[in-house]
Amino acid sequence: MAKTNETTAKPRILTGDTPTGRLHLGHYVGSIENRLALQHSHDCFFIIANTHALTTRAEESKAVRQDTIQIAIDYLAAGIDPNQSTIFIQSEIPAIAELTWYFAMLLGYGRLMRNPTVKDEITVKNLGDSYSFGFLMYPVGQAADILAFRPQAVPVGEDQVPHIEMTREIARRFNVVYSGVDPQGDDAAHAKKGVFPVPEAMVGRVSRLVGTDGKNKMSKSLDNAIYLSDTAKQVQKKCNKIFTGRMSASDPGVIEGNPLWAYHDAFNPDKGEVQDMKGRYQAGKVGDGDCKKRLAEVINALLDPMRARRAELEAQPDRVMWVLYEGTGRANAVAEETLWRAKQAVGFDFFRRGLSLVGD
Ligand code: ATP
Ligand code: MG
Repeated sequence: MAKTNETTAKPRILTGDTPTGRLHLGHYVGSIENRLALQHSHDCFFIIANTHALTTRAEESKAVRQDTIQIAIDYLAAGIDPNQSTIFIQSEIPAIAELTWYFAMLLGYGRLMRNPTVKDEITVKNLGDSYSFGFLMYPVGQAADILAFRPQAVPVGEDQVPHIEMTREIARRFNVVYSGVDPQGDDAAHAKKGVFPVPEAMVGRVSRLVGTDGKNKMSKSLDNAIYLSDTAKQVQKKCNKIFTGRMSASDPGVIEGNPLWAYHDAFNPDKGEVQDMKGRYQAGKVGDGDCKKRLAEVINALLDPMRARRAELEAQPDRVMWVLYEGTGRANAVAEETLWRAKQAVGFDFFRRGLSLVGD
């Protein structure tokens, strides 16, 4: 049973996105759906990790700024209610950067380099050996993003599970070193005596949605994504281009590992129709074109209400900035409190500071 947090008596979750582009269908099934389902029963914090976007876009900071705002619009358009959830900007939460420093001292370099997601990203994003020092730091920074909010759970896609595992290790290590928690203590012992709870990964309905290339996971950085903000025409076009490897409509089609069917399974609510189409596809009785056309229809049915909300939001940029301003203020209050507890545990609680946004 999740332990509830002190102020709201609701269990807390923290998750977020890097503004390296806009949100896509992988984010929707991997994490956003869980956020929508939990936003009334949980105390929700959603971070837009703009400083982490600099790991690969240091020279494009102005574009990162635009994407930060676009991701906030994506959240609101997808149905995240800013009266229920706190949406905030990472770069305006100084406690996160400070916690990153403390955490970085508790983790060996070798441990960091064994993280399979870091290795994967270096390969699929073609970073070679020219990645920045900051790129290697980002999983530690992500542990600080999470632990600054002392959440019980983190809704994420499968690729993030190794980062959550590292976050759990850092929380335990901090609690053992600075709060005197028994190294053999279980999660309950950490929650009781430590500064940090040991948070759990909460993986979405589809843990890893494949990209339209049929190869890599759908990703903002790999040009294989269908975005929540795509127009109906763009969705149709992208569906038509999905790589299935099939030559002609009369060839027996393959279901396994075919992104066309991964998407029907994920987004077509009519399971009977999907079953029937799959049968005909395998028998060479229906062409890719018809199945792709139907797919575009079901995806567009999901995205249409988001498009309508997006149009309203784009006409009111001040409203979006206000959501971010209010959320960032609330997030700072929580993160500052956590940092103070951490500094007390470390013994660096020399002076307590106040922090507020101008205009508060
Ligand atoms: P980038 O290419 O810049 O790494 P991304 O598309 O991987 O971007 P992130 O911002 O890194 O997106 O991830 C945000 C959240 O969405 C994470 O919880 C991640 O696990 C989840 N997620 C991202 N892509 C997918 C996917 N294809 N399927 C399921 N979940 C996903
Ligand atoms: Mg990613």
